[in-house]
Amino acid sequence: MSSGFEHGGTATGRQGKASPADIRRTNRALIFNLLFPAQRRSRADLGRLTGLSRVAISDVISDMLDEGLLCETGYAANPTGKGKRGALLGIDTSRLKIISIDLSHPQLIQGAVTDLLGIPQDCMEVALGPDNHVETDAIVQLIDQLRSDLDFGDVLGIGIVVSGVVQEGTVRDSTMLGWHNVELGPLLERQFDLPVVIVNDAIAAMLTERFFGQAGPDLIFTTFGQGVGTATLIHDMPVIGDHHAAGEIGHIAIDPNGPECPCGKRGCLEMLISAHALRERMRHHDARGRADVIRQAGDLFASALAMPVGLLDIADVCVAGPADIINNTFLEAAQQRFDAATGSSFHVRTIIRRCQVGGDLTLRGGAIAVIRRYING
Ligand SMILES: [Zn+2]
Repeated sequence: MSSGFEHGGTATGRQGKASPADIRRTNRALIFNLLFPAQRRSRADLGRLTGLSRVAISDVISDMLDEGLLCETGYAANPTGKGKRGALLGIDTSRLKIISIDLSHPQLIQGAVTDLLGIPQDCMEVALGPDNHVETDAIVQLIDQLRSDLDFGDVLGIGIVVSGVVQEGTVRDSTMLGWHNVELGPLLERQFDLPVVIVNDAIAAMLTERFFGQAGPDLIFTTFGQGVGTATLIHDMPVIGDHHAAGEIGHIAIDPNGPECPCGKRGCLEMLISAHALRERMRHHDARGRADVIRQAGDLFASALAMPVGLLDIADVCVAGPADIINNTFLEAAQQRFDAATGSSFHVRTIIRRCQVGGDLTLRGGAIAVIRRYING
């Protein structure tokens, strides 16, 4: 597991200009990010790593302990056996809660109360009809139920995961939900008097991979499902884009002679290699033919991604999807294509790998988005 939560910035303790409240917020974030998700460090270590004075460190930490963000989790080993052993600090998973609602799965709303690491503790599901229609009332009701046993002051916020284009609290476009400019964030904030973070499903899944999988701070993450969603992480910041649609590569047309897409173009990536499209194609083949379909899909995927990989110099491409699609055949074909397309003396080899984090990728990501916003603003 890699350390750190968000890169960039140093302690602002001695830089002037920033207001005391700003400095405090920055210092809190520095400390939290050094401990999230599962690092344990002493005050002395945190002082060394942040450059903050002992007084500043113990002051900020004492507040964070009171608030329920951090806890003491045992003592550092002291090989000399002399002197006082320093208490180790870590993220407190016992008190503060986050409510995460996942609208990114077909025919189902998932909801959970999670701890500060996004680990679900109490889960609920609402089944949807075949048209996938979601009323905001159903979301409100689910949050109400999840919240009923919690102390109001212990809930940090609500995370909502949607597939589609999200701009702050507004779902600009979600084909899956049939939503256009739905101002869900402000509505839920009024209803519950809690901060609400709405996050794209590929970004949510990527955050879970980043903090609980094998990823570092630079990553391209692709999910294969109904469509093909991609998210990019640069120095631990998800790339959002000018129009909040970064990563929406499913409707980039890459084969002018390909099948017609409902969006009006031909040969969109999603028409060629979404799990849905590939399963349709495999239905007409025997085992060998099916393997060919998957091999071609891996090859095509890597061809399409070779350019952004080269553009951004990213060495880690992680994919998540059903086991019949994202299998070894797919990964080997994609790796071969990457090697052929991007190999050079100045390019570190880009590795494509399968996401190994178990279930609840997106649901957990919704909660991680809330804690990130709470800490980093
Ligand atoms: Zn299209």
